Parts: sequence; structure tokens; C-alpha cells
Amino acid sequence: MSESQGSAPPTTPPRERTTAIRQRLAELRGPTVVPRPLDARALAALAANPGCRRRALLDGAGVDKGALAEALGSPSAAFGQSQFAIARGTTFESRVKADGGTELLRLLHEHVGAGGEPPKDAAVPDLSAAGPEGRAARTALALREATASGAWTLLDHPMLVLNVAGSPAYLEPDAVVVAPDGRWTVVEIKSFPMIDAAADPAKVGAAARQAAVYALALERVAHLTEGAEVAHSVLLVCPKDFSNLPTASLVDVRKQLSVTRRQLARLTRIEEIADGLEPGASFDPDRPAPELTRTVESVPAAYAPECLAACELAFHCRERARAADAVTALGRGLRAELGGLTTIGEVLSAARAASGDADDPTVAALRRAATLRAEALAGARCAEAAACS
Ligand code: SF4
Repeated sequence: MSESQGSAPPTTPPRERTTAIRQRLAELRGPTVVPRPLDARALAALAANPGCRRRALLDGAGVDKGALAEALGSPSAAFGQSQFAIARGTTFESRVKADGGTELLRLLHEHVGAGGEPPKDAAVPDLSAAGPEGRAARTALALREATASGAWTLLDHPMLVLNVAGSPAYLEPDAVVVAPDGRWTVVEIKSFPMIDAAADPAKVGAAARQAAVYALALERVAHLTEGAEVAHSVLLVCPKDFSNLPTASLVDVRKQLSVTRRQLARLTRIEEIADGLEPGASFDPDRPAPELTRTVESVPAAYAPECLAACELAFHCRERARAADAVTALGRGLRAELGGLTTIGEVLSAARAASGDADDPTVAALRRAATLRAEALAGARCAEAAACS
């Protein structure tokens, strides 16, 4: 079997194995397609749906899922920020980090209750290097040096690396601050407002999940650094009320961290998923739509309505889930309640007592619900007939 047709055997040296996986992923993406890097937002979405092999493979291969959705003939589910919001966010971030990050460090100092004067003249090391691997190595070195120095240090847009389903994902938080006691804190700078010290809980939740991915990636470096500890609260910096002045709050991400750690560990290895594809299969958007559809459908998905807010392929997967009569299209909560009944047809059949085991609590509950519904409808009809007579 050639390398492009399957994963390399376990005895292959790590470097050759990594090269083989990269080649395979490049083939899947398409020879002229630039890989789309996995960011923390995508990783948080992946961790929220670890059963979706389709997304794991597409994200791992750096496929542009929006372009793929269009090539499949489905509209791409659009999310993310408008150009205006991006520009506003960039301006706000520059303001927060101006003057060597003095204001940012003051906010962190205030929220962690470090005592004494807020830090001034913190070190801001140069993190530039060639390529993401070089930048990640440079960041790791800067973190180690900052911890050993015992001085406040601001790492502006460091590069972190996290192993996701057997492939490295490079992540770039807004900032990481190293305190003199060796504590590393992730800083997330967002442009949504904090009004009366509180921000939109949904936005704070999304920021916390994203920050947890960064904290997870930082832990890998911290384990190799003497005296280092990753803070399990991140500093969320937002505009105060409707002004452009920064304000902040510490957000505890312990729960998000443990969920993300557990979910990412559950992901099937990318090369294992790729092994299930036909030889020569590719997600290149230039391939004909019927061929692309066949390839996409050959990778199992786990559609749920939550995908509409998190994945560009959501409309395509929703259409397929509906066509397959799958109960997942109704939501994960309901799916969990229905146990072994996976299609709407099976559910209706069990409710009408045409199939299913009456001793199964799910089937019994469905039949009870069907009886109650029939009684309610009969009652409504009687009331209607009495009113008309
Ligand atoms: S939309 Fe499809 S590919 Fe994306 S996460 Fe949901 S099921 Fe997976």
C-alpha cells in the first residue's frame, strides 16, 4: 500500500511519518489549495462535536469548508465577524497594548490582586521567526526565559502548538502575560462591550472556550518549564460600556479546559479517518460536484442543529440528515433521550406500537405521549363539536 493510500506503519520514524501524513492531507485538500489553519475558535467547535469525523478530517487537512460547501452546491453557513467589526477589534487591541502593554498589565495586576504597584516597563520579547513551527519554538523559549527572569513579561501574539487528532494545530492568542511568580495568564481582547462590568454571557462563553484551547496548548510548554504554572482564569479585556476605554474581568475556564481536554482526546486520529477514503479521493473544490459529494458523504458526520452556528458545512449536513430521517437533526438533547431509535420513522413506529419493545422505557414513554396526544385531540374535537351544536 502506498503512503497516499493509508497511514504509515507504526515502525516508521516520526519524521517520515509526519511527512507522509502531511502529503496525504495536502492531497485531500487539493494540490493548489492553500491550507486553512486551525484556529482556537475552530478547535473549540471541534471539541464541542468530537463525534464528527467529517469535521475532524476537513479541519485537520486545512480544507476551506466554506469553498467546499459552495462546490457541493449548498450555501456556506456564514459566521465570524464583519470587516467593520474586525477593524474595530484591531483598533481596540492596539489601544489596549499601547505603551508596552502598560494598561493591559495594570488591568491584570488589579484583577489578580498582586499587591504593590502595577508593573511598568514589562519585557516584550520579539517573537518573530520563520513559519509557525519557528514562531512556536521562539515562543516556548521566550516563556522559559521570562519565567526564569522573574520579571513581568508580555508576549504579544505568541504562537502555540497543540496536537489535534495526531496533527499539530498552531494557535495565536492575543497575548500571554508571565508574572514574576511564574504564572502564565492568557489574555483575550474582544470588541464586544462590558456594560456595568458584565458582558453578553454567550459571547463570554465563546471567549472562554477559545481561551481554554490556548491554556491547554500553554500547559504543554509549562510542563517542561521549571517554576511555570498556567493560570486557570483568563483575563478578558473589553471596551467599557459604550466607550473605547478598556475594562477587564477574570474568567474561570477550569470547566472549559477539562471539557476541551477530554473532547480533543476523543477525536479519532486524522490518518485513521483518511484511511477510510477511496484511493485518490480529494476535497479539492475544483473536482466535479457529484464526486465531491461522494467523497464528503463517505466520511461519517454527526449533524446537530448546533452545527448551524459553528460549521460552514451545516446546510449540507442538515439536508443530508433530514433526507436520512435522522433524529440528530432535531437536536442532541432529543437524540440522547431517544436511545437506540435513530430515525424519525422508528420513533413514530414505536409510538404507534407498530414496533419496539414495550419494556424499553423510551418506547413506553413514547406510547404514553402518543396516548395523551390522542386523548387531547379527541377532547378538543368534542369541545369544538359542542360549541358548534
Ligand atoms: S456541519 Fe457537518 S461537518 Fe460540520 S460539524 Fe456538523 S456534522 Fe460535522
